[in-house]
Amino acid sequence: MNYGCYKNARNASWCCLIDYKIDKLPVKVSSIVHKSEIILLKNSNVNLLKDEESGTTLMQKGKLYIVYSDKQSVRRCRFTIAHELGHIFLGHMFQADGNGFVTTDAAEHSANVFARDLLAPACVLHELQILTAAEISMLCNISLEAATYRANRMQELEKRNAFYKHPLEREVVKQFIEFINKKKSQSQVEL
Ligand SMILES: [Zn+2]
Repeated sequence: MNYGCYKNARNASWCCLIDYKIDKLPVKVSSIVHKSEIILLKNSNVNLLKDEESGTTLMQKGKLYIVYSDKQSVRRCRFTIAHELGHIFLGHMFQADGNGFVTTDAAEHSANVFARDLLAPACVLHELQILTAAEISMLCNISLEAATYRANRMQELEKRNAFYKHPLEREVVKQFIEFINKKKSQSQVEL
């Protein structure tokens, strides 16, 4: 993995889905972490987070560690880990001591966009017409809060029919086609 090789957050999430051959939801963030040789640490074991923090990334002797607040729900943890992966893959700047990234609004925003687009890829939701926050939360195993953010964005994308304009997105949907077809046939049976 070439850290920081991705530029914009949306494209980065597509590259990540493609590079890690993710072809079904919910996206297994832990497998992306392990394949990238990043070490995942529960904060209850290491106690490195400040009270209000959900997660952070440490760079020590060339190794990356993601620390996450495992006291939070699994859904929150998944988003936290995806957010930290966003900082890593987007090549955000570390603090001088390697304990966490330099916090700027732009960096936090793009890490959130990366996490949202990674965990709830718009083209897959579009194909399945999974558009409400409750459904998105279930399918993608993310919090209702994160799913609401996604659902609002989906409404805009659906209105503009803004899909498949980028070759990476066309590649992502191809990768998910089996999952999409299976889900579609399941929902027909259920009727
Ligand atoms: Zn952050």
